[in-house]
Amino acid sequence: QHQIQKYTEDKEKVAEKLKKTVDELKPQSVPVAVIPKLREARQKTIRFRKEYLKKVNEELKQKIEENGGNRFDWQKCQICWENYGPGARPKLLSCGHTICTKCIREVEGRDTVRCPFDRKPCSLAHLRTNFAISDYC
Ligand SMILES: [Zn+2]
Ligand SMILES: [Zn+2]
Repeated sequence: QHQIQKYTEDKEKVAEKLKKTVDELKPQSVPVAVIPKLREARQKTIRFRKEYLKKVNEELKQKIEENGGNRFDWQKCQICWENYGPGARPKLLSCGHTICTKCIREVEGRDTVRCPFDRKPCSLAHLRTNFAISDYC
């Protein structure tokens, strides 16, 4: 009898603890009053970033001219040496290497790509544009 009672008590305690944990894991909602401020901050960030990218890309253009009109190595696919651009987007593989979309097509399997640098497989679903490069190409 005592054992059963203790077990029931423990079960209740565990259930309570679990509920608390679940509540803690729920995403915290943002107070409605804060949303316009967040939106404003976001738009400010987008504007700032656009201006920043424009400025950096102008500087980069000048640097390329000084380099005899040659693009820098990081602006080219390290496999086929094609310039990254609309026809050859830099794609980041899950191993961390980046190759162009043309090279991806050369090495892609049914749903994975094998990295030409280290042969590690990367799911096609995990491919992302490498904005750290594409923003400057
Ligand atoms: Zn790799
Ligand atoms: Zn390539």
